Order: sequence, then structure tokens, then C-alpha cells
Amino acid sequence: MTAERYEIDNATIQRLAEELGIDGIGVTTADPFEDTREHLTNYRESGHESGFEHPELEERVDPRLTWPNAQSIIAIALAYRTEQYVGAKKPEGLRGQMSVYAWGMDYHHVLKQKLDLLGQRLQELLGRPVEIYNTVDTGPLVDRAVAQRCGIGWLGKNCSIITESHGSWVFLGQLVTDVRIEPNEPSPPPQCGDCPDLCLKACPTKALVNPFMTDSSKCLSYITQMKGFVPEEYRAKFGRRLWGCDTCQVVCPKNKDVSFGTTIEFHPEPEYAFPDLMRLLDLSNKQFRREYGTSAAAWRGAKVMQRNAIIALGNMRETQAIPRLLQLLQEDERPEIRGTTAWALKKIDPDATREAVFQAYEREQHPEAKQEMLWAVP
Ligand code: SF4
Ligand code: SF4
Repeated sequence: MTAERYEIDNATIQRLAEELGIDGIGVTTADPFEDTREHLTNYRESGHESGFEHPELEERVDPRLTWPNAQSIIAIALAYRTEQYVGAKKPEGLRGQMSVYAWGMDYHHVLKQKLDLLGQRLQELLGRPVEIYNTVDTGPLVDRAVAQRCGIGWLGKNCSIITESHGSWVFLGQLVTDVRIEPNEPSPPPQCGDCPDLCLKACPTKALVNPFMTDSSKCLSYITQMKGFVPEEYRAKFGRRLWGCDTCQVVCPKNKDVSFGTTIEFHPEPEYAFPDLMRLLDLSNKQFRREYGTSAAAWRGAKVMQRNAIIALGNMRETQAIPRLLQLLQEDERPEIRGTTAWALKKIDPDATREAVFQAYEREQHPEAKQEMLWAVP
């Protein structure tokens, strides 16, 4: 495509990003991402998918199978680690910890807003209606492949896109359009250099099975979000984690000395960053939606977060939590909560709680919850 055939040049896109407070932006064509097919096939065949992936592999490779008139894809990056992150203090009380990406407002809304504004600007520039499709996490395309080809950043062995300016502390979004826009050069191949694979070594569950390959079924980012019972082997690995895991980003040397983001919506909200565990256990679904509704960690609802809070209390061996946990064991209607509570009580004080767990075991009807209680009173 020659330069004059572009309807919008790349400098204009960079200028729009600056105006809209977008930290990173790049453009690529809507041609298929042929390089990703082999990786996606291996990933699926090895059983490492999380289940959140788009099911149609060819649609993940070829944008025009979803958007037949697509000409260009714009990728944007918004940095979420703001300066306030450094000074964020854990409030008093028994506190869990959220992944840094959930410390502020739900990024889906913030990115969507930026992409909507960007789309509006494209329409205004061209003075005609244009086809615009925005995706944040939900579309068929592989956001990391798009970001790499748009020149936003390179892929690290920890499976994160690493940007020059903000490291991997970025959210990614995409805008697919029928407008022909001058593309960027792709980012270089992985630049991990002589780093001794710190991310692979630090991963608490060995979910990074190989460089550039995460086994989602072992990754705490996915496991903290799963429904039902958390497999026992991963509960101790949670530590105080309630949602997500930052370890493979925290240890990455490419994330040191990078710039902070300035998006005000991502400034840390202490109750989102370090939720009060006992308070969390007391929330009804409605109260949970009211208190955590604008957090990125709210979409699974109260039950998953409360189950994780019980695991965190177990890992913290918190004796002051015992009365409330006994109440949940005896009265809560949800089997995941009763069963996980039995596990936590055994961790905290098996001698003091054995009799109560045994009585709960005798009454319990749900097979998995009963199994958990049996384990707690061997
Ligand atoms: S997010 Fe945590 S569990 Fe998942 S790969 Fe990274 S370090 Fe491992
Ligand atoms: S920790 Fe090292 S190997 Fe892992 S992504 Fe960062 S630079 Fe690459």
C-alpha cells in the first residue's frame, strides 16, 4: 500500500493518542496473524487454555472472518501502575491483596471509553461514517499478537507484552476499522536478553511451563477467578491473594525504572487493593455489588471473592477469624463456602475446631463439601 492510499497517516494517530491520554498506540493491517496459528494450536492441544479464550481458532488468526471490511487495527495501551501505587498502604485489620490491575476502576470501562472517543475522532477526521469495532478482552483476536504487530511492545517469556515506557503494567485494547491507516513497524522479537528466566523461576505454581507458554489451569490469575472449589494443592499458594497474581511481573527486570501511568481512574482505592477480609465475608451479593461494583474483580460476584477470603484467612492462621468461620461452616447455604471453611479451620486450629467440623460433616449433604470436611477431621 503506498503512502497516498492511506486515509489517515500515522502521525495523526499518535497525536490523537496524546490528546486522549492514551499511553501507547500503534496500527497494523487487518491481514491474518499467520504467526500465531502454530502457537494457538499447540496451546490448545497441550490443554493449557483457561476456557476464557475465543473458541474458533481461525477467527483468532484472521480478523476478516469476523469483520469482512476490516482494513486496519489500532492497538492501545493504558498504564495502570500509577505513582500512588508506591505509597499505597495496607489499612488496619485482616487484609487480603488484589492484583495491581484491580486496584483502581474496572479497566474494561476505561479502555472502552478511550476507544469510543478514538473512533469518534476518526469519523470526524474523515467526515463520513466508518466501521468501528472496539474490543477489550472479549474479541476473537489475540491482544498480545496485535499489540506486538502494532509496535506497542514485545512479548516477554512471562507471556506479557512489555512496553518500552511502562513495562508490562499496561492494559491492552483494540479498535478494528474499515479505514486505511498508515501502520507502525512491529515491535522487535523478545528482548529478555540475559535475564535468567526470573519469571519462570518465581512463579509460585510453575504455571509458566516454558518460555512464552502459561498453563492456565495452574496460573493463580485464572484459579483465583474460577468457580467452585479451588483444588487443594493451590490453596496454600494463594497466600493473601484474593484476585490475580503479579509475581511474574514484579520480578521482571524490564519492569524496573519504568514510567508511572497517569490515568486517574487507576489510582489505587485502598479497599480495592487490600480488602478487609472479615467485612468481605459479611457482604450480601447486593452489598458486594455496591462496594466492589466498579472494580475489575467484581464480575464473578461475591461468592468467589468470599471463598478466596476464607483461603487467605486459613493461610494467615488467623485465630480471631474462627468464630465467624464456624458460623459459615454451620449456616452458609453455599457448599463451596462451607467446604472451604472446613479447610481453613483445619489450617488455623485443628484441635479447637475438630468437633464442630465433625458435626458439620455428619449433617452435610453436598458430596464435595462433605469430602472437604472429612479431610479436615481425619
Ligand atoms: S500470574 Fe502468577 S501464577 Fe500466573 S504465571 Fe505469573 S507468576 Fe505464575
Ligand atoms: S523476567 Fe526475564 S525472562 Fe521473564 S519476561 Fe522478564 S526479562 Fe523476560
